[in-house]
Formats: sequence, C-alpha cells, structure tokens
Amino acid sequence: MYNKQMLEIIRRLLANLGEDPSREGLLKTPERVERSLKFLTSGYQKDVDEVLNGALFTVDYTEMVIVKDIDFYSLCEHHLLPFFGKCHVAYLPTNQVIGLSKIPRIVEIFSRRLQVQERLTNEIAETIREKINPLGVAVVLEGTHLCMSMRGVEKQNSTAITSAMLGVFRDDARTRSEFLALIRQHETSIISPYVGEQASSVVEEV
Ligand SMILES: [Zn+2]
Repeated sequence: MYNKQMLEIIRRLLANLGEDPSREGLLKTPERVERSLKFLTSGYQKDVDEVLNGALFTVDYTEMVIVKDIDFYSLCEHHLLPFFGKCHVAYLPTNQVIGLSKIPRIVEIFSRRLQVQERLTNEIAETIREKINPLGVAVVLEGTHLCMSMRGVEKQNSTAITSAMLGVFRDDARTRSEFLALIRQHETSIISPYVGEQASSVVEEV
C-alpha cells in the first residue's frame, strides 16, 4: 500500500541532506513521510459535490450566514512547508444555504493541497458561489507561513491576510464592514437554527 517510488525518493532525499537513511531513527521515516504527505494533500481526491451531497437546503432566510474561526492547515506550493491559521466565511443566501458543518469541509478540501493562500481563499469563495448562487460571498484567511517564520524571511509572528469578496460583499461597503466587524468580535456566538447540523466552528447570525 506504500508507494515504493515515493519511499525511494524520500530515502534519497534524506541521504542528499547528509543523513544516513539506514540509521534507526530514520528507518521508518520514508513510510511516515509518504503517509503524512498523502493525508496533507488528500484534498486532490475529494469531490466537492460528494461532500455537499444532501447538505444544500432551500430556506426562507436571507440574512448573513457567518462561520468564523475555522482552523485550516495547508502546504505552501513554493517550499512544501505548512501555512495555517483561521478562515472566516460569510454569505448572503438567495434561497439556498449550505449545511453549516460543510463549510469547514469545503475549506479542508482546498487546504489539503499544495497551495498559495490567495488561491485557497478564492477557491473557497468561488465554490460557495457556484454551489448556492448567493447574493455574495466573503472569505478571509489569516495564515502563518512557516516558510517565512522558520526561514527568518519575515518577522516571526507576521500573519498573511487574504480576502475574497464576491457580489454584495464587493459592491456594498456596509455589508462588507458588517462582516469584517463580526469576524473581529468573539463574544457572541449563536448556532443557526435553520439547518439540522452542528457546525464545528463558531457560527453567527446577524
Ligand atoms: Zn512558501
């Protein structure tokens, strides 16, 4: 079940880094690395429609839906080093909503791939737009990039913030600032009553 070619590549990589792949501590490293890389990039094997299957609901609800503080972990495609942080998603439905627990799943599908934070942000937003055609979608990602902090390229604690604003979130400054204010406040958290699923993140209704 292991990919022999990948195991060999990882062994060779270790040797090229000046290590001895046959020493005890590294003997099982190729297997572990292969398994963990497969998991960290498992988003390639996931299909959005399959994940959302049965979780799109027609409702009479047109207020802003916000799922904030979704943890995400991804790999930067330039260095294959992790970047991770919080993702905040909002949309204004027309007549369809997504089961709340599916929003973090969408984030997962696209974060478990080789990514740049800007594209990850856009892919989450575009997917929600495509699936439920809302009046607008907003996605904000706050990410710490190990390729910056570990290599000392930037200040250790710097965070990259990216956003995608579609529809009313782009066109209407009030809607946009309402969303931005809401993701900054942490005290109010109300679970939306209109879908029978529990979100794994803090969800707010406005
Ligand atoms: Zn990088």
